[in-house]
Amino acid sequence: MSHPSKGIMVVTGGSRGIGAAISLLAAGRGYDVCINYSTHGDRAQGIAAQIEEIGQKAMIFQADVSQEAEVADMFRAVDNKLGPVSALVNNAGISGGSARVDELDGHALDLMFHINIKGTFLCCKEALLRMSTRHGGKGGGIVNFSSAAARLGAAGRNVHYAASKAAINTLTFGLAQEVAAEGIRVNAISPGMITTEMQDPERLARMTPMLPMQRAGSPEEVAQAALWLLSDEASYVSGTVLGVSGAR
Ligand code: NAP
Repeated sequence: MSHPSKGIMVVTGGSRGIGAAISLLAAGRGYDVCINYSTHGDRAQGIAAQIEEIGQKAMIFQADVSQEAEVADMFRAVDNKLGPVSALVNNAGISGGSARVDELDGHALDLMFHINIKGTFLCCKEALLRMSTRHGGKGGGIVNFSSAAARLGAAGRNVHYAASKAAINTLTFGLAQEVAAEGIRVNAISPGMITTEMQDPERLARMTPMLPMQRAGSPEEVAQAALWLLSDEASYVSGTVLGVSGAR
C-alpha cells in the first residue's frame, strides 16, 4: 500500500550512482519518484522496487535527457502516473571521456555538452511549466549537478567536462533569480570525488590519500545534501552551489 505523498520528484539518471541514492532517500522522506534512465532499465527497475517497498509510488522512464521530445514525453508520463512534478533533480551526466583539449573529438564534445548542459535546460523547462505560479503551478525545487571540476579545471583530462559544469553553475544562478518570485528555488550541488561508476577505480585509489579527508564521498552523503536543498529547511536558499567535496 502507498503512503501519502510529500511531493513528486523526477530524478534524471536515477538508475545508479548518486541519482539512485537520491531516489531512495527521497522515497524515505515521503516523495513519489520518477526514476529516469538512459540504458540500464534493469537497474532503474531495481530502485523502483525498493521505493515501493518503502511505501511510496515509483515509476521508471527511459529518456535521453538531451532529446527534447523524449524529455517532454517523460514529464507528460509523470503528470499522468504520479501528478505534477514538485521537485526536479538534474543528476544525469557523463564525463565525456578523458582527454587533453588538443586531443578532443568534436563528436564526443557534442554528446557531453548535449547531455550535461542541454539536458539540464530541457528538464528545467518542463519542470518550470508545471511548478511556476506563472503557469498556474504551486511552486517547487530544482537541484542541478555541477562538479568541483568547474572550480579546479581538471587540466590534462577533463577540461571539457569541467566547462560543462561551470555552465550549470551559471544556469543555476540565473534561473534562480528568474523564478524566485514564482515559488521555485534552484540550487546546485558540486560534488568532489564520489564512489560511483563514473570514477575510474584506479584513479580513485591513487587519489584517495591526497584528498583532504583521505577518502572519497559516498552517493548517500550527496543525497543528504540534495534532500536538504529541496526541503523547507532550505526555504531561503536559492541560487547557490553547495560543495559536497570533503574540503577539496
Ligand atoms: P554515474 O554513476 O555514471 O551514473 C550516471 C547516471 O546518468 C546513470 O543513471 C545513467 O543512466 C544516467 N545517464 C547518462 N546519460 C544519460 C542521458 N543521456 N539521459 C538520461 N540519463 C543518463 O554518475 P554519478 O557519479 O552518479 O554522477 C551523477 C552526477 O554527479 C553527474 O552529473 C556527474 O557529473 C556529477 N558528479 C559526479 C562526481 C563523482 O565523483 N561521481 C563528481 C562530481 C560531479 P543509465 O544507468 O541508464 O546509463
